[in-house]
Amino acid sequence: MNTAAHRAPTASAAPIPLREALPWIVFAGLLLLLGVYFVGAEQGATSIFEGMYVHEFVHDGRHLLGFPCH
Ligand SMILES: [Zn+2]
Repeated sequence: MNTAAHRAPTASAAPIPLREALPWIVFAGLLLLLGVYFVGAEQGATSIFEGMYVHEFVHDGRHLLGFPCH
């Protein structure tokens, strides 16, 4: 009873062309780099914002990821 009529229907996903995905990949990469900057360097080696709010907000993540801090 293993005929084609008894098999479960299979779904096939359409491949996403690289030309359409590339801008989103670049955008995600920029967001990732921005996140790495804020966790790793902001209000430490460099500072865009005044004060220590960003530093304190990401402080545990900075230590967890091994960035130099104090
Ligand atoms: Zn620290």
